Amino acid sequence: VTTPRKRYTVTLLPGDGIGPEVISVAKNVLNLTASIEGIQFEYKERPVGGAALDLTGVPLPEETLLTAKQSDAVLLGAIGGYKWDNNEKHLKPETGLLHLREGLKVFANLRPASVLPQLVDASTLKKEVAEGVDLMVVRELTGGIYFGKPRGLGTNENGEQIGFNTEVYASFEIDRIARIAFETARKRRGKLCSVDKANVLEASMLWRKRVNAIASEFPDVELSHMYVDNAAMQLVRNPKQFDTIVTNNIFGDILSDEASMITGSIGMLPSASVGESGPGLFEPIHGSAPDIAGQDKANPLATVLSVAMLLKYGLGEVNAANRIEAAVLDTLNRGFRTGDIYSPGTKLVGCKEMGEEVLKSVDSQV
Ligand code: ATP
Ligand code: MG
Repeated sequence: VTTPRKRYTVTLLPGDGIGPEVISVAKNVLNLTASIEGIQFEYKERPVGGAALDLTGVPLPEETLLTAKQSDAVLLGAIGGYKWDNNEKHLKPETGLLHLREGLKVFANLRPASVLPQLVDASTLKKEVAEGVDLMVVRELTGGIYFGKPRGLGTNENGEQIGFNTEVYASFEIDRIARIAFETARKRRGKLCSVDKANVLEASMLWRKRVNAIASEFPDVELSHMYVDNAAMQLVRNPKQFDTIVTNNIFGDILSDEASMITGSIGMLPSASVGESGPGLFEPIHGSAPDIAGQDKANPLATVLSVAMLLKYGLGEVNAANRIEAAVLDTLNRGFRTGDIYSPGTKLVGCKEMGEEVLKSVDSQV
């Protein structure tokens, strides 16, 4: 018996739809990995989203947020579903997620997009373009045009209706996202591409200036800059050229969805949202998938890979993270597939069985 080196508290927020199914698998994978690596976890499971609406009348109960804030990391399943789309109080489950991000002050959203050799045929791109893609989009999450003021609907001098929004970034906001991006690139292949529109937008001119300034703290990372229109094109033309991409809130929203479509496997993609201190929020990028909820059909691997991100980017437990990533690849190599990634000649399994196979692979990694 190994003495636990470290002890962490993780808040589990299963949420709605397939959330509870994939969280249950991910928790088992985390538990086994932890016991092998000599780490101890305590779990606090709390309601969020539609589940919380039904129980307490609000999508993010105060107790859920407090527990999340006091833990070392937060693992979320998914939020929302048809059931709450037209509820009387007009409280949407999804607002729970926005408030959770706000409450945890997570300003950096990390979204990897890798084309795994076993799933290259799922890519929307030609095989030779897709093969070997392994990139990470670091998106600024709490600033920019989605939050900037002034904003609103109004009337101009000709009496015509107008809508307006403001792209604002303060230097501290750019500096802190840049540092996270450089650190992320350092943990990967050491290449960072900053995406902006500095030829047109003043907010982007400051962005570029600050990213260049922060670069001096990271001489080991190779920095380049790209305009967003070109980046959108390069992502489908030659995505292999990218390692880590850092960009603002709106460009990151668009580019991270574009990057995820390159892989074509929504059930495989994890994400992390982190701040300067305090717990990070880790979740699959897919939604609650109400069409397959409760049928044991969900692919749990996006959530399992979110646990790997939790270990790597949330707790710095890199060995444990690597063990989980290797286990996922091993499970795919042994031919197991849920319906969303199935192809002829592979073995079709449900969510639970996929989880059991991942556990075997976790156990067999040296
Ligand atoms: P959001 O809730 O973020 O708006 P959405 O409703 O657009 O997301 P999802 O809930 O992610 O989309 O579902 C989109 C499609 O992908 C559905 O057909 C769903 O069944 C499928 N899907 C999503 N996640 C998974 C998964 N983990 N395993 C298998 N299929 C999935
Ligand atoms: Mg949905």
